[in-house]
Amino acid sequence: MGERIRELISEADVAKRIAEMGAQISKDYEGEDVYLLCILKGGVFFTTELAKHITVPVTIDFMSVSSYGSETTSSGIVRIVKDLDTPIEGKNVLIAEDIVDTGRTLAYLMEHLKQRKPKSLKLCTLLDKPDRRVSDVHVDYTGFEIPDEFVVGYGLDYDQRYRNLPYVGVIEFD
Ligand code: 5GP
Repeated sequence: MGERIRELISEADVAKRIAEMGAQISKDYEGEDVYLLCILKGGVFFTTELAKHITVPVTIDFMSVSSYGSETTSSGIVRIVKDLDTPIEGKNVLIAEDIVDTGRTLAYLMEHLKQRKPKSLKLCTLLDKPDRRVSDVHVDYTGFEIPDEFVVGYGLDYDQRYRNLPYVGVIEFD
């Protein structure tokens, strides 16, 4: 079975939008530090590019979670595979995620992180599929709202491939 990738958001548009998001975040957090929490693996490309555009002091940490459920639907029960390196109590935690789909993973994770008493907890995502939302998760910064299609690139994978594409595309099968 052949696969093709149809470009949805160009490399230039992704770069431009992330720069805008970084500028907005820098403004909103003026006088504060940001603890940028990258959700592995998909959030890596977005996190590093975003961090380059944040002008307030930034520290970066990583968390890896796995959601129980089928390949296409997350169950909302999340297992922490790799936890943060340091406590987040009193910190301005900003989660950087590749995509919010049903919102189940983030809703669970944010509830969990709140118990660690951060000073603030916000969520930014490169992509959002609002039509698919089932959990009430508030997204503070959104790069692009996209239709309900399976996308790859800029960190997002299909069977662990395509994460390295510099643009976001829809995977199509022959
Ligand atoms: P949620 O709990 O919001 O349904 O699940 C979010 C996770 O599902 C994302 O972090 C991502 O791993 C995966 N996901 C959701 N939609 C897509 C998509 O269109 N493409 C890819 N590659 N992963 C997706």
